Amino acid sequence: MRPVVRGKNTKVFKDYRNARKNLIDQLGEYCSYCEMRLGSSLAVEHILPQALFSDEKTNWENFCLACINCNSTKKSPMERRWKDSWQNLHIISAKIAARSEFYWLDQDNTFRAFEYTKGGHIQVHPFLSLEEQKVAQATVEMVGLDKTPKPDMQMKDRRWINRKDAWETAERYRQNLRKCNDEELLKQMQDMIVSHAVDKGFFSV
Ligand SMILES: [Zn+2]
Repeated sequence: MRPVVRGKNTKVFKDYRNARKNLIDQLGEYCSYCEMRLGSSLAVEHILPQALFSDEKTNWENFCLACINCNSTKKSPMERRWKDSWQNLHIISAKIAARSEFYWLDQDNTFRAFEYTKGGHIQVHPFLSLEEQKVAQATVEMVGLDKTPKPDMQMKDRRWINRKDAWETAERYRQNLRKCNDEELLKQMQDMIVSHAVDKGFFSV
């Protein structure tokens, strides 16, 4: 989950879906949570769910972009927290709680919170304090970034398998880069790595 800068937007969105183009211009065509590059299936996502925080439905500051898996996985944990705690709070306090019980890509340095390991697996960064580790773990579970598909499933959730591919490609590039002694070739390889990352996403890898 990479940190993103949404930027300011003075436009009023009557329908949040109309913010999609502006968000893509700012964030690129990547899921803000799993970092997978996507085209038409990328949707405007509400960080604070619109079903629970109705006044956040058309708020630019509450938007990001998400794939269908991140979007749908996030729904139940947020509803559970709402039922268990947030619904008993004043709406302002509920928003503060929702924003502080997880790490969010638009307010936290999410590069610091997680590390990616061999095979494209994600884990909470061991250098975090115990309190921070709790928040980071809750975030991973909220979006289901640690999910790997069960063998009998039809791989509907392709986030991990694509991240694994990205990891393996990055590892291959790194080995080739280390072996390279030619300056011109080195530059070409670096350009290739950058364009591969832009093409596939998974910047945290
Ligand atoms: Zn995603």
